[in-house]
Amino acid sequence: MPKTTLSIPFNNSYANLPSHFFAKVLPTPVKKPELILFNHSLATELGIEFKSDSQAELEAELAQVFSGNSIPQGAEPLAMAYSGHQFGHLNPQLGDGRAILLGEVLIQKQQQPNQQQRFDIQLKGSGRTPFSRGGDGRSPIGPVIREYLVCEAMHALGVSTTRALAAVSSGEPVYRQGVEPGAVFTRVAKSHIRVGTFQFFSLRNDKKAVTLLADHVLQRHYSDIDNRNPERYLEMFRAICRRQAKLICQWMNVGFVHGVMNTDNMLVSGEGIDYGPCAFLESYHPETVFSSIDRQGRYAYGNQAAMAQWNLSRLAECLLFLFDSDEKVAIEKAKTVLDEFAEFYLDNHHLSNSRKLGFNQATSKELVDDILHWLTLNKLDYTLFWHRLGKHLESMSADALLQEFSITDVQQKDDFSAWFTRWQKALDTGNCRSTARVTMQQSNPVFIPRNHRVVEAIEAAEENNFQPLKRLLKALETPYLEQESLADLMLPAKDSERVTRTFCGT
Ligand code: AMP
Ligand code: MG
Repeated sequence: MPKTTLSIPFNNSYANLPSHFFAKVLPTPVKKPELILFNHSLATELGIEFKSDSQAELEAELAQVFSGNSIPQGAEPLAMAYSGHQFGHLNPQLGDGRAILLGEVLIQKQQQPNQQQRFDIQLKGSGRTPFSRGGDGRSPIGPVIREYLVCEAMHALGVSTTRALAAVSSGEPVYRQGVEPGAVFTRVAKSHIRVGTFQFFSLRNDKKAVTLLADHVLQRHYSDIDNRNPERYLEMFRAICRRQAKLICQWMNVGFVHGVMNTDNMLVSGEGIDYGPCAFLESYHPETVFSSIDRQGRYAYGNQAAMAQWNLSRLAECLLFLFDSDEKVAIEKAKTVLDEFAEFYLDNHHLSNSRKLGFNQATSKELVDDILHWLTLNKLDYTLFWHRLGKHLESMSADALLQEFSITDVQQKDDFSAWFTRWQKALDTGNCRSTARVTMQQSNPVFIPRNHRVVEAIEAAEENNFQPLKRLLKALETPYLEQESLADLMLPAKDSERVTRTFCGT
């Protein structure tokens, strides 16, 4: 009898779709897998069970499984086919070039025990696949750690996201600009079906496959839409648009810049995915871009809703024949839904900005716009500003806040003081004062994965020191809760520490 056992209750569905949806392929084993991080609470949610006599043996077994060296029972490893518009340019042949879906688990939903939820368990950096093109199918440790941190930070922030189950170092070098240690990331998602997955079949004029995929998505992600409804595909599109609008609002709310919102990086489930050259705002400006490859600012902070709408238009193009047999009518239907996206986004974005100011309902548009304009001019740290505003809601005067942020310009001081008075008045008029503190606390995080801290954690991990990573992860687990012992992780980068560029690092 083996002393260590691990079981994953696989229940696969994508593997049952026609064979041209994917390529069956096994992970390529790595030399010396060692467990860096494992998300025990997520594993429990997924029904993953393990028994072991010793911690060391358990870690070794987890490293074997989540590096791809050992294939757990019930897994049906495959690489998914997809296309995608990358920075506006269509690439018809992408697909999982360095990721392999092990399989899916089907679990009872926590809040609704009579409903089930399916989750993909996917390895990333697990070796070449038929979709690898010129790539090596591997991942350096840096991007693995960044994705782990951002996934779990997003989850704790209340942002719809794919999750991190494990990070395992491979013991093998990965060659990029220089030589870097390799690692494998295990990602959990409601599915990995992208806008680009629909594009893959649509581009090949394979209507049968598009319909099959749409039916799969309806059943898997939008089961509340009646499958006898003749408008079910349009309803699905509407629901996808709504989830994307909500997701972008959530990103805007926490100052997140995704950086690579290509159609192959947009999931139809509405979860955020592929945290590569992403970063969180420090000083507030809508045109903020971090990614070194986003030279035109296509995916700048303030452009994200427009880019989501652009991607959704590409999705609509794939689905038109399912909306109506008359193409003109189908286009009109799609346009209506895309217009609704814009409206729904703007309403929700305004509501979440209102909540950042302590209002439970939408407040005056000017009040929000004026403070955002002031923040732009004064380049204040986005996260810290809202936090301070909320923390000292009752006690702090405009002057004290101005002092805290060292604002000395007379005009800027006057503008802020005038705004501050209007804000206080609006809270009273809206009867929001008693709940404002809690509303602000729930809307304005204390901890975000600040770029310089992420880089610090990665650089230490590259030297085999995982303490900064674990400490940062701890702060990010409760991002709305101030903790004295972690206070340094709240602070913006000093000039010497600031990281203004991020890289794909693939
Ligand atoms: P991403 O930028 O991570 O969204 O990836 C875009 C496309 O490039 C996807 O099809 C990936 O599978 C592929 N890709 C990225 N890095 C690699 C790599 N190291 N080896 C093979 N394929 C890769
Ligand atoms: Mg991608």
